[in-house]
Amino acid sequence: MFAGITVVGIWASIQIRHFPTGAQLEAPDPWLDNQNPWELPRLDVTYEVRFYGYAERLNDGTGRSVWTGGQEVLAVAYDVMIPGCYTKNTNNLRLWESKPKRGFDLNSFNAGDYERAIESSNSAAAITSVLYPNDHTSFGKELRLKQQYFWTAASLADILRRFKNIGKPLSAFPDCKLYFYRVSRVLIDVYLQTHPTLAIPELMRILIDEEETPWDDAWNIVTNTFFYTNHTVLPEALEKWPVPLMEHLLPRHMQIIYDINMYFLQAVEKKFPGDRDRLARMSLIEEGFPKQVRMAFLACIGSRRVNGVAELHSELVRTTILKDFVEFEGRSKFSNVTNGITPRRWLDQCNPELSALISKTLGLQKPVWLKDLFRLEGLLKLVEDKKFRDEWAAIKQRNKERLANLVKTTLGFTVNTNAMFDVQIKRLHEYKRQTLNIFGVIYRYLTLKKMSAEERKKVNPRVVFFAGKAAPAYYIAKLTIRLIVNVARVINDDPETKDLLSLYFLPDYSVSLAEVLIPASDISQHISTAGTEASGTSNMKFCLNGGLLVGTVDGANIEIAEEVGESNVFFFGHLAPAVEDLRYQHVYHPVPIEEKCPALANVLNTVSGGMFGDGGVYDPLLNTIRQGDYYLLSDDFDSYIAALDLVDEAYKDKDEWVKKSIRTTAKMGKFSSDRAINEYAESFWNLEAIKVPQ
Ligand SMILES: *Cc1c(COP(=O)(O)O)cnc(C)c1O
Repeated sequence: MFAGITVVGIWASIQIRHFPTGAQLEAPDPWLDNQNPWELPRLDVTYEVRFYGYAERLNDGTGRSVWTGGQEVLAVAYDVMIPGCYTKNTNNLRLWESKPKRGFDLNSFNAGDYERAIESSNSAAAITSVLYPNDHTSFGKELRLKQQYFWTAASLADILRRFKNIGKPLSAFPDCKLYFYRVSRVLIDVYLQTHPTLAIPELMRILIDEEETPWDDAWNIVTNTFFYTNHTVLPEALEKWPVPLMEHLLPRHMQIIYDINMYFLQAVEKKFPGDRDRLARMSLIEEGFPKQVRMAFLACIGSRRVNGVAELHSELVRTTILKDFVEFEGRSKFSNVTNGITPRRWLDQCNPELSALISKTLGLQKPVWLKDLFRLEGLLKLVEDKKFRDEWAAIKQRNKERLANLVKTTLGFTVNTNAMFDVQIKRLHEYKRQTLNIFGVIYRYLTLKKMSAEERKKVNPRVVFFAGKAAPAYYIAKLTIRLIVNVARVINDDPETKDLLSLYFLPDYSVSLAEVLIPASDISQHISTAGTEASGTSNMKFCLNGGLLVGTVDGANIEIAEEVGESNVFFFGHLAPAVEDLRYQHVYHPVPIEEKCPALANVLNTVSGGMFGDGGVYDPLLNTIRQGDYYLLSDDFDSYIAALDLVDEAYKDKDEWVKKSIRTTAKMGKFSSDRAINEYAESFWNLEAIKVPQ
């Protein structure tokens, strides 16, 4: 609908296998070795990007500097066409590859220093050869900062070049419509956490040093061009860069950040005279050894609007990490746009049978309801139609068999497709609490082992699926994977219980794998510590496919429950406002876990005791819960188990379960990405939709 917008992408990935110990093993993904037929190399679209060197202030009263020396590399564009669904519009995904500026450093070559000549060309190509892993924790690594600057600088240069072609003054930059294939507009959203925030000082640099724009005018253009979407409030994930590294790699940008900070703090001082604590809290520079640049603050003050990605998350942005900024700049700059997912991929493509049934039942052509997802509400009047419910249930059953086939071919196991399918698939992280799930599985296993054969006959069989990658340096997350895999080995091999409880960890989680897992789930788990999951999107994908949800009162789970009705969601756990107090108590009034949550203590002791292989291996993981328990497992475990019991109880009434499933899908209209994009376009970016050619 908004054709011609250039989006900026990255390419890199890792494949995951498993060691015999069950540990995650990373291997490079050679996906470009045989070339990529979908990309168009654009050797005619290149820009020079500089690193290191010296920035010298001109001291002529203009604030300008001259940045010279250092390393210069070339950014080469690659275009990937992204066709829309049921439209002739096609967007362009523009990717950038780094190349040495010349084949190699001729100066060094002429001086007889062959090795240095090769080395400089290798280091240029290394910038985009693999994405530096930076997953919800920020490591201060030079290559990562280099990548961030490389991608933002190339994209910004490209946008400015195209803007200049239309011959308008730079003051029109934030509001100008660019004419390419169709109408679009210069508008830059600092999306994907704060990784492209360097675009803010970069645009200032171009305007001041190259275009000779006065500071105030440049800042005015910048703060009307950028929009900041925050994606996390986890303190450890808020990006910070050491000042010495910034000064070394991007000396001119560091000067500009200091200047932005000086003018900004002067304005804060004017509004809150004498409030030194406030100045220290709001400064773009965090004191310490070394000093650090707070990228989220830079993104906030350099942007026209700031938003979070679900109602609760946006409220937490306003009341925690950016509280001082709301007090300074006013509430109206800060708002919410709840995330969405595309029903084209996450229903029509991944669940073709359900999509066909919906079209037939609603009496609508696919494009009509796939582009207006609120139409799904038409399914509500069929909830009481037995024939429809049977068709609905039969499709779920076939999707479960499709997943069982995948498990057979990848892991070699035969899955019981009459069991309830219980799925948790997402990046491995402590805040997402895969630990809560695996400890719950162990608890269930121990409970089954204590039962008589007679009692076991009344138990609902359950198959638990996990998938997800851990960041290669995230030790605790990798240990969690190892525990899951080893628990699976024991449980799946126990003849007494294996028909009632089995567990599979599918390696190498990806979108393609998700497309098989999601349509097959009866229940999925979204169980982050309240207040930590900004939105979540897989929760939406599962519900769109008629899976029910067990979860905490967090992120978009809350809005999903508002839509589908709380009776169709299994909520548990403490609420976000309680979290701070609970953590305080963990530190200042700790209660031994044996007293506080005997059930969880027993599970942890079983793991230490060696039931799943050498117990000592898991000590570092178990100790995060026994000491400190930052993610509050001991506070939520009992209510989690109670919620899973309610799930079992509800699943016994299959027909009622199918009704819940249909009601859930029917009420997912709000979570279409079309709704989210339209909210950004209308109330945020001030973009008008164009007519879609038929
Ligand atoms: C949707 C999706 C995610 C996000 O999942 P959450 O559970 O919301 O964190 C991650 N990875 C893949 C492959 C996905 O499809």
